[in-house]
Amino acid sequence: MISRSKLTPEVIHRVQVGSCRAVFTGRSGGASQGAYAEANLADHVGDDPAAVAANRVGLSQELGIDTEWSVVSQVHGARVVDGAPGNCGEADAITLTRPALPAAIFTADCVPVLIISETKLAVVHAGWRGLEAGVIEAAVEALGDAAASAVLGPAISTCCYGVSDELAERFGNRFGTGVIGPGPVLDLHGVAVEVLSNTCGIRSVTALGPCTHSPELFSYRRDGPVTGRQALVGWIVK
Ligand SMILES: [Zn+2]
Repeated sequence: MISRSKLTPEVIHRVQVGSCRAVFTGRSGGASQGAYAEANLADHVGDDPAAVAANRVGLSQELGIDTEWSVVSQVHGARVVDGAPGNCGEADAITLTRPALPAAIFTADCVPVLIISETKLAVVHAGWRGLEAGVIEAAVEALGDAAASAVLGPAISTCCYGVSDELAERFGNRFGTGVIGPGPVLDLHGVAVEVLSNTCGIRSVTALGPCTHSPELFSYRRDGPVTGRQALVGWIVK
């Protein structure tokens, strides 16, 4: 008999504000195998659909949420959609204002951004392209005055994120030289904090680790295109 915990993707961070809830998942637990082992939650990366479905059901049951999630086809852009059951098309952020329906975005190095208030939330997929496109600003604007605080989940960190001189210069010019380090390396969390704090005026921004290059997480930079994704899942309770 397989224990239930083995089939349940590990939750590495939990957030609760008012009636809003969110979790960031890790890599262990779950039914995925090979390069996707164990807790891949994305259905667009070549993993066995039955394994992905089992992982989503396992996590949903563990959290006591609906098994059908609002998701998007992530394209590294700045489009924001209102959460609705199933796939809401090409976008990189989902807002939720009503109870029950979970919304999820999937990452393996990009920054999973949770923007959260007492009654509304947004889940955002923000890599360098999305940060440059303004996906965080778009999500904050879509939430309106409700954007009270933000939490950044695990992303690739400066220890492991060398970039071209051209990209470093562009980001340094736009977001401040504090987001660039010798190498050069780019601080994705630093860019997100800069945008959330200074552009959007959100006072409370928390950045969580570890670097996604560490073994307990999926990393595109480390593993290449054949790898899984961890998830940021948010929902509102009644
Ligand atoms: Zn690292």
